[in-house]
Amino acid sequence: MSQSYIEKLRDPRWQRKRLEVLQRDDWKCRFCGDASSTLAVHHKWYIPEREPWEYPDGVLITLCEECHGKETKDRPGTEEQLLAAVQDANFSVFEIEWLTDIIINAKWPKDRYFFLAELEGTICHVGPRDEFLRWSHEELLKRHPELREGA
Ligand SMILES: [Zn+2]
Repeated sequence: MSQSYIEKLRDPRWQRKRLEVLQRDDWKCRFCGDASSTLAVHHKWYIPEREPWEYPDGVLITLCEECHGKETKDRPGTEEQLLAAVQDANFSVFEIEWLTDIIINAKWPKDRYFFLAELEGTICHVGPRDEFLRWSHEELLKRHPELREGA
């Protein structure tokens, strides 16, 4: 007899996996650092028929309720925006393949948000847009001094 997804989330195998991920992530949202809201363990991708606990740890991430809601609800629209942006930018097939390879093969730093803020500054030739981005820019350079200009 097959369990519903809700029932599967009550399965002790998922409960254990979930606790391991929460502990690994120090009981904080990995996007915004919130440690006081309800936390969810999010699957970054799903494979049909696979049990929720049968994923590698790297696929699972702790998110607060707000970030989890945004990630699951806004994701399809946001992915469409990315595709539209690539189309609007008039990339050639060669350039799109190149961009795809970069994303697939990137050795993403652990704090990729900071990396993206830095990338934005490099590509757009602008300083970080607001105070938070300026702060994250400084944080990135503290963590990755090798990225400092002229280093
Ligand atoms: Zn969050």
